[in-house]
Amino acid sequence: YDTFDETEKPVNIKVVVRIRPQSPTEKLLKIPIQVSNSNKNVYLKCSRQNERTYSYDRVFDQKANQKELFDQVMKPMIQDVLNGYNATIFAYGQTGSGKTYTMEGPGKKTKQKGEKQQSNEWWYQEETAGLIPRATKTILQNLKRDGIEFNIKVTLLEIYNEELIDLLAGTNKESAYKLKSNTTSTNNSKPVIQLFEDQKNGGTIIKGLEQITVRTLKDIEKVLFEAFNKRITAKTKLNHHSSRSHTIFTLLVTTKQSQENGQDIIRTGKLNLVDLAGSENIKKSGSKNQQQYEAGKINQSLLTLGRVISSLIVKQKHIPYRESKLTRILQDSLGGKTKTCIIATISPSGTCIEETRNTLEYARNAQ
Ligand code: ADP
Ligand code: MG
Repeated sequence: YDTFDETEKPVNIKVVVRIRPQSPTEKLLKIPIQVSNSNKNVYLKCSRQNERTYSYDRVFDQKANQKELFDQVMKPMIQDVLNGYNATIFAYGQTGSGKTYTMEGPGKKTKQKGEKQQSNEWWYQEETAGLIPRATKTILQNLKRDGIEFNIKVTLLEIYNEELIDLLAGTNKESAYKLKSNTTSTNNSKPVIQLFEDQKNGGTIIKGLEQITVRTLKDIEKVLFEAFNKRITAKTKLNHHSSRSHTIFTLLVTTKQSQENGQDIIRTGKLNLVDLAGSENIKKSGSKNQQQYEAGKINQSLLTLGRVISSLIVKQKHIPYRESKLTRILQDSLGGKTKTCIIATISPSGTCIEETRNTLEYARNAQ
């Protein structure tokens, strides 16, 4: 992980913080957060007498753009994935702090009257494209530049209340999917995804998850936006839903290289980009109504993730992967020879100090 100049850590886990810019309505407010010149420390003013300092591998302030973040955090992972290793990036933070912006980009503008198709132009733009389009583009460019034979598959999985939802289910069989949803009013024909322990290699086998082969950036855009649109029509309260679910986008990159002795080397690397549920859910557990029940389930994955990472860091013998769906699914991409980065996103608003502090503390405990 050579972008960071500090001494090599025993485990390849980096924690960075990103502060999003103020929104127009926040512009007049004072920002309770400062970043050190070294870009390693964050100072949070909790109250007049109480200022706290937190240190990370790197802090990206309001001015840091998408390219800077990609170059610093993700570029070092790309070659690893092409060499057959696994890597994972998490976006962790409260709802509205910039997780999805970081992973995907700014999203669609609100639809204008008379406008038929909403454009996803931002996906391709240097200024605005997030980590998913950038990573995909870089991987494709590198493979094509080096003339390497390759196969890329994508999966898109959502975890909601510890249930698994395949957002690409039906993508290959679009007509069959439509037929089913036309004939039955309730569309419960979703294939079941099952997790099995991989007896041979350790880790988890995910059964029933649709893998879509893609050749170009355009292919991936098409697949993803179809999936997102499907989700939008299926759920009425999108914000509610997206703040409570974890979304795992995975690129499976297989390369084939011929050697001088005529033998082929085939390698498969995996790149996971995970947009986590809003971290504000973490403390709401403990009660019995539906909202609190969901919060408890979200807790399970977020808290287990924190525990898995801290036990990897202290090289504990037992890593509690099995305690949540999220960590089971990512088991082969956390620890060992893999690289992991947590991007903790925070808001510059003085009205979110409490949540900001929680995020900074979760992130600190993960390193
Ligand atoms: P989250 O996914 O954490 O709920 P979003 O990514 O949706 O948050 O961000 C909330 C709002 O702030 C969106 O309108 C988004 O476009 C904007 N935003 C977030 N991060 C940035 C950034 N670094 N630069 C510019 N706008 C941003
Ligand atoms: Mg989001």
